[in-house]
Amino acid sequence: MQQLRDTASQLMILNDEIAQTYSRYQNDRKLFCRSGCGQCCLHPGIEASVLEMLPLALHLYDTGLAESTLDALQQHDHDQAGCFFYQATSEDRKSGQCGVYPYRPAVCRMFGAAGYRGREGEVLLSVCKVIRAGAPEAVIATEQSLSSETPPMMRNHKAQIAQLDYELSKENMPIKQATAAALEKVLTKAYYAGLV
Ligand code: SF4
Repeated sequence: MQQLRDTASQLMILNDEIAQTYSRYQNDRKLFCRSGCGQCCLHPGIEASVLEMLPLALHLYDTGLAESTLDALQQHDHDQAGCFFYQATSEDRKSGQCGVYPYRPAVCRMFGAAGYRGREGEVLLSVCKVIRAGAPEAVIATEQSLSSETPPMMRNHKAQIAQLDYELSKENMPIKQATAAALEKVLTKAYYAGLV
């Protein structure tokens, strides 16, 4: 159990660095997320690794919510409602907030604008469609700057995270599944450590 806690602590530090890196880039390039926008959280297919959900699973365990959250995750009709942890604040569900913000996975810290590599190895820009529609000139200027200014690359940060625990990082799956797997891991460790 202590090893899981140590890994989660290291990941939380790395997560903060990742969030700052993407936030700084997005601010510099004027590719801001609209305040209160939750449209990315409506996508049911957002994927994370089990490792990315480990800090949340430990937090739920420490607050006595591990079993009940695992039950709720297993019963949740995920595909219709977007992410299990999304809390909509508008009727059309397009505005809202993350219910587990401090423990959100790394992938959610890279939302908005980030770099990735195309088939030929070229650097490309991934931009959320809401940002693209709201700031088309900033998107064009950023795309034109790609050869001189490399954006933060999602793949590099995923690789950095994987170095903390290859086994728990080797597969990406929908956030709901990854959280359930992380909770099962924590509960199993706690059981064998005689903590439950
Ligand atoms: S974990 Fe939070 S930020 Fe990430 S998709 Fe779910 S609600 Fe959105």
